[in-house]
Amino acid sequence: MGERTMLVNAREVVREEGGEKLILLVFEDITDKKMIERSLEKSEFKFKLLTETVPHLIWINNATGNAEYFNSKWVEYTGEPVEKSLGEGWVNFIHPEDKERVLNLWSKSVKTGNLFSVEFRIKNGDGNYNWFLTKALPLMGSNGEIIKWFGSNTNIQIQKEAEKALIKTSEQFRQFTELLPQKVTNADPSGKVNYYNKSWQDYLGLTEEELLREGYMKYIHPADLQQTKERWKISAETGVELDNELRLLSKNGDYQWHMNRAIPIRNERGEIKQWIGSTTNIEKFKEEEKRKGSFLQLVSHELKTPITSIKGYVQLLLNMLQKENRDLEALPIQPSLLRIDEQIVRLTRLIAEILDLSRIEENRLDLKKEKFNFNTFIHDTIEDIKRTDIQHTISIHQELNCDIIADKDRLGQVVINLVTNAIKYSPGNKTVEVRIFEKEGNRAAVSISDNGIGIAMKDQREIFRRFHRVEGKSEDTYAGLGIGLFLARDIIERHDGDLMVESELGTGSVFTFALPYENKNN
Ligand code: ADP
Repeated sequence: MGERTMLVNAREVVREEGGEKLILLVFEDITDKKMIERSLEKSEFKFKLLTETVPHLIWINNATGNAEYFNSKWVEYTGEPVEKSLGEGWVNFIHPEDKERVLNLWSKSVKTGNLFSVEFRIKNGDGNYNWFLTKALPLMGSNGEIIKWFGSNTNIQIQKEAEKALIKTSEQFRQFTELLPQKVTNADPSGKVNYYNKSWQDYLGLTEEELLREGYMKYIHPADLQQTKERWKISAETGVELDNELRLLSKNGDYQWHMNRAIPIRNERGEIKQWIGSTTNIEKFKEEEKRKGSFLQLVSHELKTPITSIKGYVQLLLNMLQKENRDLEALPIQPSLLRIDEQIVRLTRLIAEILDLSRIEENRLDLKKEKFNFNTFIHDTIEDIKRTDIQHTISIHQELNCDIIADKDRLGQVVINLVTNAIKYSPGNKTVEVRIFEKEGNRAAVSISDNGIGIAMKDQREIFRRFHRVEGKSEDTYAGLGIGLFLARDIIERHDGDLMVESELGTGSVFTFALPYENKNN
């Protein structure tokens, strides 16, 4: 049976008859009780040891809720001897505003043995309060009775302050956005909008509640809806910024153009936490653009008539001079007229470019496609250029002979543009090389190379945008509007082709376009 622990109770008993005195010994076997107590002491000791190494404030309360133990972090924090906290002393460190709430919850837990979890402020040694998250669990006896409570307090002051700052900034964000003429939204990571500013409400004539319930999808012009949805889907899936133009129905019943942008806000781990969207009314801007387009169209039309007439007369005079080549030879009439003629060709091309630009903007640049031999066409176009420019040598290398289906005039315009650029931007150099060759995917390619001023890497994408001209010397030295390449690329793309540039500053440029051919002849 082994050793047992006994509690001995001795009592002196006097026997009535005879008056003898007896000692009565009562033995109580308390082995089990002792064992429990000892193991409890042991685990409590271990627990206390552990509590000294953690940054939390740790405590043990008895079953009725009175404090029996605090770790040194608690003592350090409160700046008071531990006696001040023991028993019910700890209650005095709770912020007066939190006391009632905390004690109510605490007494509930003490009654039920349920987890105690609460956030409240505790006073430190300087008399200031910090926010803590307090959690406690009871240790239960074999009959389900509470033996002790083990609790920990975690300082969450920094989180609380961050939370407060966040609330403040989002309040400020709201106040700020209410003032903006732009329409501003705030959406969750999936794109579900949870805030519409006043400008949205005013434009659509809806309350924020209505907007939150209905969204603005049904106010988007039907023709723009599909694209808007697709763009949103891509952004929500990949996190790329949204940039979209769409028409929105105003409360007055008319659709107005808007630019819709949204950027994702990420946390420190790079996960998207929210989207901020801004939608700007660009109706006026669009109208302005349209007006500008029609103005340019008008200007070019108006200019075309007098220039055609001047050109006609210059031609007439030149012809007359050629025939009647007599007394007038002393006067520089012929060179002057030739010069005028050259300038008119340039002016005519400029006007045509402006016209084309507005056609592209209105999507009215129609192609008249026909089948022809590509090589003969390139050859003839280069010959035409050579006729007006006798100073440069333009050589043609043909590695492919093919027929294509295309708009001859438009393609001619592209070739003229690229070759005249090659001449224009290589002042010291007099040779331009044109190469016709095959590219993968049954495509005919033409490259035009010069040894001119070249184009810096950073400008190589930009030069294809309308009105873009490389800044610096070239802008002042070489005349131009910055429309040519924009048109050229547009025309080539309308032929299912592409136009690219390879260039190095100071060395020269190679412009290459490629488009599908119909059949090969070699
Ligand atoms: P423009 O020549 O009328 O300015 P383009 O659209 O034809 O307009 O060309 C845009 C810009 O690209 C030019 O202003 C020039 O800076 C640059 N560029 C075009 N072709 C060449 C070239 N062959 N060499 C160097 N720069 C060029």
